[in-house]
Amino acid sequence: MSKYDVIALSQELIKRQSITPDDAGCQPLLAQLLIDAGFQIEHKRFVKVDNLFAWHGQECKNSKSLLFAGHTDVVPVGDESAWKHPPFSAVIDGDYLYGRGAADMKSAVAAFTLAMISFVTSQPNHKGKIALMLTSDEEGVATDGIKKMMPYIAKEHTFDYCLVGEPSSSLTLGDVVRIGRRGSLHVEITIHGKQGHVAYPQNAKNPVFLAAAFIEELSHFTWDNGNNDFPPTSFQISSVKTSSNTSNIIPADMIIVANFRYSPESSKQSLEQQLKQLLNKHALNYSLSWNLSGLPFYSQSQHLHTAVTQSIGEICHIKPDFNTAGGTSDGRFIAQYGVDVVELGVINKTIHQIDECVLVEDIRNLEKIYQRIISKIL
Ligand SMILES: [Zn+2]
Repeated sequence: MSKYDVIALSQELIKRQSITPDDAGCQPLLAQLLIDAGFQIEHKRFVKVDNLFAWHGQECKNSKSLLFAGHTDVVPVGDESAWKHPPFSAVIDGDYLYGRGAADMKSAVAAFTLAMISFVTSQPNHKGKIALMLTSDEEGVATDGIKKMMPYIAKEHTFDYCLVGEPSSSLTLGDVVRIGRRGSLHVEITIHGKQGHVAYPQNAKNPVFLAAAFIEELSHFTWDNGNNDFPPTSFQISSVKTSSNTSNIIPADMIIVANFRYSPESSKQSLEQQLKQLLNKHALNYSLSWNLSGLPFYSQSQHLHTAVTQSIGEICHIKPDFNTAGGTSDGRFIAQYGVDVVELGVINKTIHQIDECVLVEDIRNLEKIYQRIISKIL
């Protein structure tokens, strides 16, 4: 067994000042524990980012492979003097463990690392494969982390399921499990008019007036109806500007910057097509520039959902709500490889805040939940 219990290991990790992209020694500490327990390790550094992959067992027929994923980096502390306890001191005060990364997500990293170690220690000849993937670049631009690690690891490893330890819980541990995220698609729409003098509108075409009815229709357009697990796709304009900032000029162009948060009922192609149809319907002369920042993903495995629901029920005596709310996470880079991804971690109420904290009891229970999920899946 490991020399750490889950609370002590969480504290050790919090004490390492691993502000993105610095791992600050978190991964070497975990790697040594995993090596001691018989795991194989691969460490990959991309630019300034440390990534760790560890695995035990192998894929075979009639068995499953389960990957735990997470990050060792944390967001900056903000005004350090405003903290009740220094942000890297990992103080336990009352029922709570305080510190940057306590909830997002070092306690979960400690919990799943130790859950994996205790599983392989008690069942060294287990069927299937259990693995872990960590990065020190989740809170930053996330380009040299799981996004680069996954294609590298996928050359030799496949996974049926992935559990991301991000803080999914809302009011009590295990009340919310995330089973997917909406996609995010940016678009810049340029409406072309004809520049002219404001005193001679007959010689110009004002793109703002040309686009007015189009924008009105966008405000209530239905892109899809969503489905049981996803709300309908939403389209929001974040900025509108023209190519002129002179008061006596009718501008040549109007530029609309917008974002789709889209459900799996739509795709980049379908949204592009619908937007073009609308522009054509309003007889606009336009150009478009697209940037896909995240594909939607969606876990549908009954086997995984049942294992998670039962494990939470056994430890917390509640039934989790499975939903797809929240921003993006590294789960998007893993789901692309056909892996069924769910996110389950501690309460997210204080993440990224001053006095980030987590209930000590929740860390212990999260470790037990992860242990049960591993046993049920493998
Ligand atoms: Zn996080």
